[in-house]
Amino acid sequence: MLLREAQRALKRFDVLTLFPGIFRGPLQESILRRAQEGGLVEIRVHDLRSWTRDRHHVVDDEPYGGGAGMVLKPEPAFEAVDELRQGPKSTVIVLSPQGVPFSQGVAERLAKEDHLILLCGRYEGFDDRIPRGLGALELSIGDYVLTGGEIPALVLLDAVTRLTPGVLGDSTSSQTDSFSAGLLEYPQYTRPPVYRGMAVPPILLSGDHKAIARWRRKEAIRRTLERRPDLLARAVLSELDRALLAEVEEEEAAPSEGEPRKNEELTTDH
Ligand code: SAM
Repeated sequence: MLLREAQRALKRFDVLTLFPGIFRGPLQESILRRAQEGGLVEIRVHDLRSWTRDRHHVVDDEPYGGGAGMVLKPEPAFEAVDELRQGPKSTVIVLSPQGVPFSQGVAERLAKEDHLILLCGRYEGFDDRIPRGLGALELSIGDYVLTGGEIPALVLLDAVTRLTPGVLGDSTSSQTDSFSAGLLEYPQYTRPPVYRGMAVPPILLSGDHKAIARWRRKEAIRRTLERRPDLLARAVLSELDRALLAEVEEEEAAPSEGEPRKNEELTTDH
């Protein structure tokens, strides 16, 4: 009963943007659409210009001190948040390349919040008094600059919505996803068993669930070691994990067969 009630608790997102149309497609497809139709989340997209008072609905102005581009003015953002905020239930988020890196851990924390207000920037970004004065959490989706905060907001909406109880049919699927247990997920396979000469690892066809679980854990460790050693260094490993890691390290020390994968050409430093 309690679980069913928790599953019905509505999470609300209010998004403030100058380009509401960008959200139309992504919010009307797949899991985001079903989560809204099922009453698990409510996502409202607002045009920031609705909170302007002048005839031309001006939201930006030239930067003090000169320089290229335009800066988003404080008044519409403050007035919009004043109207939408529901006291301490609300968390205000400003999407910004200068923010805290968005991660699975941040998504898990936000999935526990009742109400998120997302502010999407454009042009040169927001007047700095906006995040400061609104007590906002500034979040970045990565070390690159996009033209606006709409795609970052969609990234956040997707990552947080799928962690909201009841949204994913099988709730365990988000628990084994990459990052949720501090490691990347193990490799996945489906039919056919052999395709273009590439065979599925035989253990996955064995029906031995204990052996499959061990193989998956070991491959998750191998994948994380190969691709994201920084994550592995921070992960909390059990005694079995450490034994599996030792096995992987021994196997990896042996000369490898086959072509390197494409993503070995790029490291995270590029
Ligand atoms: N002049 C700003 C700077 O250098 O920090 C960049 C402004 S950017 C062109 C316009 C808007 O896009 C930002 O206000 C922010 O809302 C959004 N944005 C761009 N890159 C982002 C990122 N990596 N993460 C989150 N938001 C981003």
